[in-house]
Amino acid sequence: MTIGIHRPTRLVIDQAAIYHNIATEKSRLKPGVALFQVVKANGYGHGITQVARIAEQAGANGFCVAILDEALTLREAGFNQPILVLGITDPQYADLMASNHISATVGSIGWLEAADGYLNKGHQLSVHIALDTGMGRIGFQAPEELNKAVQYLDQKRGFNFEGIFTHFAQADSADTTYFQLQLKRWKAFMAVLPARPKYVHVSNSATSLWHDACNDNMIRYGVAAYGLNPSGGELATPFPLKPAMSLKTQMMFVKKLPRGDSVSYGSTYTAGEDQWVATLSIGYADGYERRLQGFHVLVNGEFCEIIGRICMDQMMIRLPHQYPVGTVVTLVGEDHGKTISLQDIADYCDTIHYEIACGFTQRLKRTYA
Ligand code: PLP
Repeated sequence: MTIGIHRPTRLVIDQAAIYHNIATEKSRLKPGVALFQVVKANGYGHGITQVARIAEQAGANGFCVAILDEALTLREAGFNQPILVLGITDPQYADLMASNHISATVGSIGWLEAADGYLNKGHQLSVHIALDTGMGRIGFQAPEELNKAVQYLDQKRGFNFEGIFTHFAQADSADTTYFQLQLKRWKAFMAVLPARPKYVHVSNSATSLWHDACNDNMIRYGVAAYGLNPSGGELATPFPLKPAMSLKTQMMFVKKLPRGDSVSYGSTYTAGEDQWVATLSIGYADGYERRLQGFHVLVNGEFCEIIGRICMDQMMIRLPHQYPVGTVVTLVGEDHGKTISLQDIADYCDTIHYEIACGFTQRLKRTYA
């Protein structure tokens, strides 16, 4: 996608914030616990290679991604750390993974058998066994199946049994009932495992922040690195997270809207009085949700309403008085002591901040402060 560099709209990423969020968590971990930074979905919208670089400096020992292409992006950018693809990859790419030292997630014996057929002689694919303890997404569901897979791996030279993991569905909740159920099932799986692989891991950000006794020897640290509380606001984080993402633009066009005139498609907003209106160069094609009509932005420390429908590339805001073209507008972040957080936007859209952060499209130019 073409990146918009000839307009003033910018996603600004605070590198020091990401560093702080990772280094602080790393310092809380017991010695010997590896932190793998999750950088899938373009580093949750923050930029995959830029985040990986900061994570490396902050002490991350490896990376997790969702799909093979993201792992290859990291390798092409020169990252040599271990990389785990968390999703299931088509077995036909087993050899591509092996030759790039990218570890695969395995959820069935059938996958191993298929992958074995694609591995070239002398190549070895590292695998992490996924256990489904209640997430209901991927992974082995019964201890007997796990044992069969481990036996299969034992016999095959083409595989290195590198890790085993599960994923919690409710580690970010004050009610720990379901978390405890999954933990019990995890322990039952681990009780039948004949030998531990190098990495044993259960923790996403929420688990590591609020249930760190479970961490074992690796964590998959995601959203908290970006300064976002995994629970939204339900649980307080054990240390202050610093949000890394802001979104700023400048007014492109300013006009006086006469009383009775309307704004944007469908004419859903009509001025009840003469008022000043600014047009901004950002819209839903940038990932600024159309549902945000009626929400607000910040101008000079004042909240200004988004009026009329948000268009694909432009949107309008009501100003308290005339401002010159070029005046800075904050859509996410701080302005003169007031803040609009990704959580505020998520609340307005009835979703989670994860979706807002990774929904910002490639057309938005990212800058690194
Ligand atoms: N582990 C797995 C398997 C995941 O799917 C994810 C993200 O969805 C993470 C870890 C990171 O989670 P979080 O961003 O909540 O820390």
